Amino acid sequence: MNNSNIIGSISALTLRGMEAVPVEVEVEITGGLFNISIVGLPDVAVKESKERVRAALRSVGFSLKGHVAVNLAPADLPKEGALLDLPISLAMMTSAGLIKPAQRAFYMGELALDGRLRRVRGAVPAAFLAREMGVPLYVPRENAQEVGLVKGVTAYAVDDLAELVAILRGEKTPEPIAAAVMGDDTFTAEPDFSDIKGQAAARRAAEIAAAGHHNILLLGSPGSGKTLIARAMNGILPPLTDEELIETMLVRSTLGIPSEHGRRRPFRTVHFTASSVSICGGGSSLRPGEVSLAHRGVLFLDEFTEFKRDLTESLRAPLEDGRVVVSRAAGTVVYPSRVLLVLAANPCACGHLGDLAEKCVCSRLEVERYKRKLSGPILDRIDLQISVPRLLPEELLSFSNPAESSAAIRGRVCRARALQQERWSQYGFSCNAELPERIVRKHLTLSSEARSYLAGMAGKMRLSGRGISRVLKVARTIADLAGEEELSMPHLAESIMYRQGNMQWQS
Ligand SMILES: [Zn+2]
Repeated sequence: MNNSNIIGSISALTLRGMEAVPVEVEVEITGGLFNISIVGLPDVAVKESKERVRAALRSVGFSLKGHVAVNLAPADLPKEGALLDLPISLAMMTSAGLIKPAQRAFYMGELALDGRLRRVRGAVPAAFLAREMGVPLYVPRENAQEVGLVKGVTAYAVDDLAELVAILRGEKTPEPIAAAVMGDDTFTAEPDFSDIKGQAAARRAAEIAAAGHHNILLLGSPGSGKTLIARAMNGILPPLTDEELIETMLVRSTLGIPSEHGRRRPFRTVHFTASSVSICGGGSSLRPGEVSLAHRGVLFLDEFTEFKRDLTESLRAPLEDGRVVVSRAAGTVVYPSRVLLVLAANPCACGHLGDLAEKCVCSRLEVERYKRKLSGPILDRIDLQISVPRLLPEELLSFSNPAESSAAIRGRVCRARALQQERWSQYGFSCNAELPERIVRKHLTLSSEARSYLAGMAGKMRLSGRGISRVLKVARTIADLAGEEELSMPHLAESIMYRQGNMQWQS
């Protein structure tokens, strides 16, 4: 069939963390016994593409013969994933003289045996690279929606290999992917705060946490509704900004998860049996973990005291730095991890310490041992600690005064967040919780009265420098919720109250 040994060359890409990197696929077909060899640091998925590609090519009437050499360049860059199926098959067809792509373009897609194109991960980073290089991009139709969210890219969606071959032969005109509207910012809160009875203090703390993106610990007996309050927090967070939406889309695309939640912030729940790789990322393919999927949203650790110490220890750096560095021999990649951490835990081992209806049966020693579980590096990073007492039967049965809805709370949260964005955007921050020490020291100033009050409390509570700065940031959020520019005594006093919760538990 092909004696002229044409080298077919097609542009493709691979992923390095959340970044797409260009790859050239070169194919040479020579005579002899049939075999396919792929060189250029392919991973297992790329090696397995041989069978898929061969079958898919048959679907367009091309049966592969002879020795097929596939070279992925640059040679020292690890190539991963099934997204190279499509460019490999196109390079084979080019080498066989069946198509002659006139213009350079990036191609990505996994092939089914019948030639259909399947969704791949990494379409969003690919769209960013294609836009930057001014090169058109061809993707499977299932990836079209997320690619449409990247403004200014020229991209086309295709259903199968036959359609693409027709396009490359000039028999069909490709249809560009239309620019999509960046996420809807209206959504229903589920659960809604109007479904939660009583719990005025916890509602207030949840609102402050949402307004300033502060970490929060909810302590309460089983059945007190702490998990419900944690879940309801997702419905009172402000919508993602354009920039934040793109950041979350990039993480999701890296894992091949569709971006379907509009501007709703991510909410990820982690169970105590999870591995540190699933939470922080890494493993053989350097993928992001839950803490990165929760970026710009909530990471919820229910039954926090059940988590192993090494697991919570591994979360320390991502929480502190707002990013996760994942390394192995193949290289190092960085994923974002700016999360609002929500923890829920029982107040003691039996769960009834402080419960009005049921008596705690723990010994003093057991209570002390339990308190130690509720301390350590993660607890140091909690800004608000609040008790969620179990309601008494008569409180549960009171139907008067329906509670305020999530929509109403969210309105105040959004106004407070807008004030923060206006104030801090010039320094590159969007909310109070993100502020580094130097900004706190310079810009969160206090009257002399408030300053001496804070100094007194800091001494009494043995607050560290970081503790003081956390108290100030929460106080700033409380002032923002009140629409007040000046940080004053009541803001500080309320902030310290949430901090003291911590002190009671950390002896
Ligand atoms: Zn107990």
